[in-house]
Amino acid sequence: MKIMKFGGTSVGRPERMHQVKDLITRGDEPKIVVLSALSGTTNALVGIGEALAAADRSLAKLRIEELHSHYLAFYPELLKTTEAREKAEAIIQEHFEFLNILLKISFNEAINRDILAQGELLSTKLFQTLLEELNIPSVFLVALDFMSIDENSEPELSKIAEKLTAILAQHPGERIFVTQGYICKNHRNEVDNLKRGGSDYTASLIAAAIQATACEIWTDIDGMHNNDPRVVDRTRPIAEMSFDEAAELAYFGAKILHPASIWPAQQFNVPVKLLNTMEPEAHGTLIKEKVETTGVKAIAAKDGITAIKIKSTRMLLAYGFLRKVFEIFEKYKTPIDMITTSEVAVSVTIDDLSHLSQILEELNQFGTVEVDQNQTIICIVGNLVSETKGVLKSVMDALLPYPVRMVSYGGSRHNVSVLLDSTYKKAALQSLNEGVFSWEN
Ligand code: ADP
Ligand code: ASP
Ligand code: MG
Repeated sequence: MKIMKFGGTSVGRPERMHQVKDLITRGDEPKIVVLSALSGTTNALVGIGEALAAADRSLAKLRIEELHSHYLAFYPELLKTTEAREKAEAIIQEHFEFLNILLKISFNEAINRDILAQGELLSTKLFQTLLEELNIPSVFLVALDFMSIDENSEPELSKIAEKLTAILAQHPGERIFVTQGYICKNHRNEVDNLKRGGSDYTASLIAAAIQATACEIWTDIDGMHNNDPRVVDRTRPIAEMSFDEAAELAYFGAKILHPASIWPAQQFNVPVKLLNTMEPEAHGTLIKEKVETTGVKAIAAKDGITAIKIKSTRMLLAYGFLRKVFEIFEKYKTPIDMITTSEVAVSVTIDDLSHLSQILEELNQFGTVEVDQNQTIICIVGNLVSETKGVLKSVMDALLPYPVRMVSYGGSRHNVSVLLDSTYKKAALQSLNEGVFSWEN
């Protein structure tokens, strides 16, 4: 059994949903089809939640109406028969009634997460209606029945596997299962989600849970490119890469994959394929355990980074200093991305600023603390980059015109990371694009 996940743009227009239908009905292998919300929907739902949080009901109402009209225009183009259209109308009615009820009750975070879940429920129900109209046998699975996260928002993989296996066993001989990406239940049994872009994570978790033959991520581009195509000109797709390389790129900003979406597939060695719904015959990117190619493969960038420097003469020749510093970040559940140290100072980067003021207050007891906001981590990824001659030189040459705040090299064998002010991001990425790939392979 394989997993086929389709992102927002792949289901965002009626004709695209028809293309998805064509893709999932090719070949005999049974598949679990994971769908995102129609493109733009989750952003719109975020907007509705924000309006309600700000107690601006008329704005929330307006945003609900706008989204509602989008769906009312969508379904007649998707479906032909009166029966299917009536069914779609009822589905849309049900979900928008739910949103409208929320206008009348007091708002809280749990309700916000309920709002965010509507997108994937709508897209999968509409898609299931299309399959029914075309007499394509399929089983509709509600992700809320098997996808769960614990109190630290970590997916409960063994529970997911147990529940999903039991559900699938109730449908022997079925070949197509349709379910929602992104949404799940939390430890309080409330509706929750796997964070923005989380449908990739759902696909990989399901792939791991059932030890699928492949996890296909169908999107709007022909695979992982060697640089961010939204920022840099002349990027190109990479035919294959290792799980480690892909995980690093996803974590450091390659939007094509959710940051955490590689580990579940990697744990069970399920190959991940990045494919283009609009160009299904394109090779795309194959992500697997081992690849032969060495040298720099791709570059990704993560914005919204804050660098914190703690300078202390007490660090000089002292042991235990780093532990004390790290304990503070641990206490506030704030992950650190990059670290560099000198004999008298340590710099770290974080992207979660929810506890910044408390962290800074506690760090102040160790020495002088300096904070730089609006930083970008640029991550240069490849197989064995730390053992390939000339990589660091080509990176530094390309970055010559820009002030580099931190460099991290040798922490892993497949990554060099640098930190600079976000104003230099575009120029630095473009310069790296021209400088570091020329001698590759
Ligand atoms: P989906 O809705 O299918 O999940 P996303 O928008 O989340 O699609 O991810 C695909 C987009 O990721 C591409 O359209 C592209 O703009 C962006 N992207 C960023 N970095 C990369 C990269 N290195 N390779 C390919 N795409 C990338
Ligand atoms: N619909 C969700 C989002 O826009 C999840 C996803 O598309 O992966 O973030
Ligand atoms: Mg995505």
